[in-house]
Amino acid sequence: MNDESIIRLSFDELRQHSQAMRLRCLCCGRIGDYDVGVVFMDPKTTGSLQEITPQFSKYFRCSHCSRGGPWDVENQQVLQDLLTRKQKEPNFEGVALGKCQLFDGTQTMNPAMSEDYLRAMIAKNPTDAFLHTRLGNLLRSCGFQDQSAECYTTALALDPGDIEARYHLFSFAVSEMQMEQACFHCRRLARALLEGRNTNRPELREGIAYYLIDQIRSAPEEFSRNFFASLSSGCESKEDIFIRDTLIRTGDEDRIADEEVNRLLGMDLSITESTSTIIENMKATSLTNLSGNPAYDPVPTLKESLMLIGSPENYRVAFEASDRGNMRVVDKHVIQVSDGAKMAPWAAESLTALFRGNRPAPPDIEQYPEEYAPHFWFIEKHVLAVSDSIGDRTDQEMEEIYAALRRRPEGRSLGTLHDLMWQAMAVLLGTFPLSESEYEGILGALVRSTRKWSQRPVSRNYVAFLRNPSDFMRDEDNRCL
Ligand SMILES: [Zn+2]
Repeated sequence: MNDESIIRLSFDELRQHSQAMRLRCLCCGRIGDYDVGVVFMDPKTTGSLQEITPQFSKYFRCSHCSRGGPWDVENQQVLQDLLTRKQKEPNFEGVALGKCQLFDGTQTMNPAMSEDYLRAMIAKNPTDAFLHTRLGNLLRSCGFQDQSAECYTTALALDPGDIEARYHLFSFAVSEMQMEQACFHCRRLARALLEGRNTNRPELREGIAYYLIDQIRSAPEEFSRNFFASLSSGCESKEDIFIRDTLIRTGDEDRIADEEVNRLLGMDLSITESTSTIIENMKATSLTNLSGNPAYDPVPTLKESLMLIGSPENYRVAFEASDRGNMRVVDKHVIQVSDGAKMAPWAAESLTALFRGNRPAPPDIEQYPEEYAPHFWFIEKHVLAVSDSIGDRTDQEMEEIYAALRRRPEGRSLGTLHDLMWQAMAVLLGTFPLSESEYEGILGALVRSTRKWSQRPVSRNYVAFLRNPSDFMRDEDNRCL
């Protein structure tokens, strides 16, 4: 079979058209007249008309045995006439040249036969969410919305991240103005997309993302009311932050849509490639022996996690990054501490809970006093590791992140790098006893340092400095690393 003859249509993409045809059911052998809808014929196989297996767009079952097919066309001349007419009138809607196939390449003769096929597959693999979603799509395209909603609900019970099933339940809720349901599905859909979930047709993912943004932007007042009323105070999830930002943005709609879709889909990383990437990222940055520092005194929970890695004296926060310049932190509060060979999770509730003692920051902290040099280096090696794997960060971005961490340690996420730097600060506080005043002093010095390097709207001097301090060493910038 020639590839070009395959029109990648599934039954759920068909137009409405009525035409009657006399068919013989090949299951029970009995004859009946059925509204078959559009007839699909593949012209590449029409050497002999007898070889054509037509396909029908309408959902119908044998009125005797209620099977979905297969069928024989009683009068083959009818097919020949339809084909001749299509050749004379290319716009004739009763015939489509091409063929329909299911996701796995299977060709059935009509949607009811597809349903029988999918149900048989599901009977063999009842926990396969993907199959339930396929059946949902088929039934939806035939106008059976309630039945399709059941299939999607089953699919989501098996796999809450199935974005196709979620998208359809979201759109059902929107069209029926069920705002509480719409809000629920909107959140779950945003989360799954932010986590990089895909479908068997990658182009569908982008379409779903645009639909989601469009629905949020054009949502009725009731949706926003419902959404804001249900926001929990204090701890915000990434999907809630995303939806809220999308709701309150102002400006050009097309631009907002493009930017928000990029934001939704930007974190496309597969878990399988991540572990090796993390290790590579770790190797790129030299590790310092932390336990050799006189102030080294990890909190008990961190100490426990460090027992799980090979070199508990050399570690930093591991992160996932792809070569396409994306990185992600799955859950800010679950920190992966790594020595470059092994990783161990450490749970950190908040930065403020990790402050120890009341020691005031020294007045000269901006001069990077020697005692604090390891602390600065611990933070900055994370900046270097990120820059090594996804490109140098700008001075402005680093300044914004340091300033936000200083002002509001538990403030909302500004993005993945902010999350990662939050984690680095948590591990720093977990490793060395530092007071709130010292924490603020260290971040204040970092803010001023990035501000000093920032010379153009987009500059990368700060990272360049971290890479090779001697190039930049001047009298007034006498930093010790
Ligand atoms: Zn029959």
